[in-house]
Amino acid sequence: MSKFLNKKYEKLEAYTPGEQPKDKKYIKLNTNESPYPPAPNVIEAITKGEVEDLRLYPDPECTELKKALANVFGVEKKNIFVSNGSDDILNFAFMAFSENGVVFPEISYGFYKVFAELHGIDYEAIPLQSDFSINIEDYYNKGKMVVIANPNAPTGLLLSLTEIEKILKENKENVVLIDEAYIDFGGVSSASLARKYDNLLVVQTFSKSRSLAGGRLGFAIANEKIIEDLEKIKYSTNPYSINRLSLIAGYEAVKALDYYNENCDKIIKAREYAKAELKKLGFYVTDSFANFVFAKHESLSGEHIYEKLREKGILVRHFGNEKICDFNRITIGTMEETEKLIIALDEILRGKVEK
Ligand SMILES: *Cc1c(COP(=O)(O)O)cnc(C)c1O
Repeated sequence: MSKFLNKKYEKLEAYTPGEQPKDKKYIKLNTNESPYPPAPNVIEAITKGEVEDLRLYPDPECTELKKALANVFGVEKKNIFVSNGSDDILNFAFMAFSENGVVFPEISYGFYKVFAELHGIDYEAIPLQSDFSINIEDYYNKGKMVVIANPNAPTGLLLSLTEIEKILKENKENVVLIDEAYIDFGGVSSASLARKYDNLLVVQTFSKSRSLAGGRLGFAIANEKIIEDLEKIKYSTNPYSINRLSLIAGYEAVKALDYYNENCDKIIKAREYAKAELKKLGFYVTDSFANFVFAKHESLSGEHIYEKLREKGILVRHFGNEKICDFNRITIGTMEETEKLIIALDEILRGKVEK
């Protein structure tokens, strides 16, 4: 820390991204990326001519991408916000809508707490129930912005649309932000409720199901007034936050619905296989609807499993938080990668680890 840092940031604890090691080639099951490349039309659209055009600023309104998204979600362009990764949208939403504070589940996406602290927002982290499920009544009439990841991370547990609707009804005076980073892996998006509820803000990303984590692209669906507020913050920070190539990639990705649906189906199949095999190996596994599983072994510690897998060239995500330190969050890759994971775990459990 330099002596120049504003005091208000002295105690700020930044978000810790999953590791991206370069020392050897790992099977990367630690950051919930897609194992599949972007759709062929996405790759073809990034031409030499488009790269040459990088001398020009991108369209700050993201017109074509917004129109394409509006079309898919059955809303209008004015109901869509696009930004540099959905983290950017979360950040803007915390700035815009939590004057009276914010509530979110205690075990959830780590960035919520970071954004609250970054902006000095009063926050309440509501404990999950003992099976990690969310008790929706805990979120009624809080008088604060409500933020819920659905499915939740790292548990993968899903709330139904009926439950989301109840939360919306019980928080009419505050924004309810539903972070749908993992919704394409078996959930139903609450985007369809955006016409009916002017307090709903649905946030999605191109990083997980759409294979564009490196492109940094996220979007939101909401009432046009909420979108206007987000635009105001975007235009007050960085109107050109999405680069030209990502705009093109995103536009093409929206058109490749079939390709991405097929990938999601493959990942869901591998996830269900992983759940079943992990249980056979003595793991407790939550009923995840995301592209990861959250698993704890009956006798080995989470950290031990994390380390032994790392030695075997498989990276998973282990969290230090004592409430979940027995668990690992394991991204679902291809079926082949999943099979290798299960074999590696089987070997670890049999104590056959090469030293
Ligand atoms: C991955 C993730 C995001 C962030 O996605 P980006 O669009 O890559 O910034 C947001 N919320 C949750 C719950 C996530 O897991």
